[in-house]
Amino acid sequence: MPKKDLILLALDGSHTLKLMDRALQAVNYETAIAADTKALSRLLQETMPALLMVGERFDGHDGLEIIAELLERFPTLPFLVYTEKATPEFAKRVFKLGINGYLAPPLRTDDIVGIVEGALKHAHRVGDWLRREVKRTTSSLKKRAQISEAERSRLETVINSIHDNVMILDEDNVILLVNPAMCASFGLDGQAVIGKPVLDVIQHPDLRALITSNHSDDPLQYHEVNFPDGRVASAQYTAIPEIGYVITMQDITYLKEVDRVRNEMVHTVSHDLRSPLTSVIGYTELIARAGPLNESQKDFLKRIQESVQHITALINDLLDIGSIEAGLDTRREWVQLDGLLRYTLDMLQGQIKAKQIKVQTEIASPLPPLRANPVRLRQVLDNVVGNAIKYSNREGEVKISIRPEGDQVIIQVSDNGPGIPIQDQAHIFDKFYRGRNINDQEGTGLGLAIVKSIVDAHQGRIWVESNVGQGSTFFIVLPIQSPTIPVGKK
Ligand code: ADP
Repeated sequence: MPKKDLILLALDGSHTLKLMDRALQAVNYETAIAADTKALSRLLQETMPALLMVGERFDGHDGLEIIAELLERFPTLPFLVYTEKATPEFAKRVFKLGINGYLAPPLRTDDIVGIVEGALKHAHRVGDWLRREVKRTTSSLKKRAQISEAERSRLETVINSIHDNVMILDEDNVILLVNPAMCASFGLDGQAVIGKPVLDVIQHPDLRALITSNHSDDPLQYHEVNFPDGRVASAQYTAIPEIGYVITMQDITYLKEVDRVRNEMVHTVSHDLRSPLTSVIGYTELIARAGPLNESQKDFLKRIQESVQHITALINDLLDIGSIEAGLDTRREWVQLDGLLRYTLDMLQGQIKAKQIKVQTEIASPLPPLRANPVRLRQVLDNVVGNAIKYSNREGEVKISIRPEGDQVIIQVSDNGPGIPIQDQAHIFDKFYRGRNINDQEGTGLGLAIVKSIVDAHQGRIWVESNVGQGSTFFIVLPIQSPTIPVGKK
């Protein structure tokens, strides 16, 4: 078996040194030779030897004194010493220092190898024992840390005064601490539950789902916890190294209510605005029938109609976002993206021709169908491809590719238009956000917000890569749901 241990030799007298070096290398030890005490100190740091052999005199110093000093710095390193003359006094000093052994002439290869092996074996045994002890001590320290009284009472004071619900668990999900707010939320007896597995104590399905969900991907998990009396809380389950886990929970009932009222208001206002606008459009169409109009009147009417159409489109967008964000978009069918893209391109033909845009498509075949809402996916394509054309310069190039990758489909829409400044890229999916470099292009800043909410509702992802002056590429990744779900069923 090859021996890879490195033996560091610090000896005067080239004959002895050579002999030892050869003897050790012959049995596959690695060796390093220190020329003086300075080199010895450096080699000890750099090579981490398995054993150090020092001469009784080395570089003008007493070898045993060198060893005594080094033992302070390297207490687990095995030392051997070589002496020209082994007197009883010398042997006494060696054993007093706790050195592993000594060698004296006549030097035979077997003796050299034998004493080195013996010292190494002993050192390995000590090393193994040390490692075991360290492990045992750290794990007992960890355990003690979990239940240490001082620590516990300090923690208890802190978490008891926190308004949020807090529960601390060990690595096996056994309750270590729980604060009064958490006890009140789940009707727990604060003292009785300590030391019990949390799943024996908590029956609430939302919180149980949070605790038992797969935590390997993300050490921090969020869940909404709904109470029968209508309260809603946001709960987090966080891993704490060397302790276990902490569950924290905050009441978000009022936030939910604010959100609901806001959405309801947007919805109602949008609905209420749409009806009068429909009649404005209706009457503007009737004016023309009431009698002949002069050119200025016709122009004014056209402007009114365009403005009303603009507001109507804005309101429709708001209503769309409202219903998608409220989770009302549940329609799912098997959808062929290539077919949808054809409709989108047909619709945009007028703008493509007017700006002489070169459109290239690269659609993988066969393309797996997606389980999705076709109307919404059409909106995604209309908006993203529509933007690529709208923001492209005349004779620009737009490339659209759709390809499957694993269990998802990737839609990529690139243009060589103005690009999106880096400061805007994080915001273009927000409602009403418009880039700073698009000058006089019309728009509401709602298109990509709608796209994002649709993609989110389909468990997909959307992002953009763009450089100003070079163009933009939008990536949309949508999951292909397992085709074992029967077509037409929700
Ligand atoms: P709108 O186009 O109505 O402004 P969007 O929500 O569709 O609203 O887009 C938001 C912003 O993102 C735009 O105002 C524009 O600044 C930027 N943007 C979107 N697509 C592109 C694109 N293909 N090239 C350059 N900028 C884009």
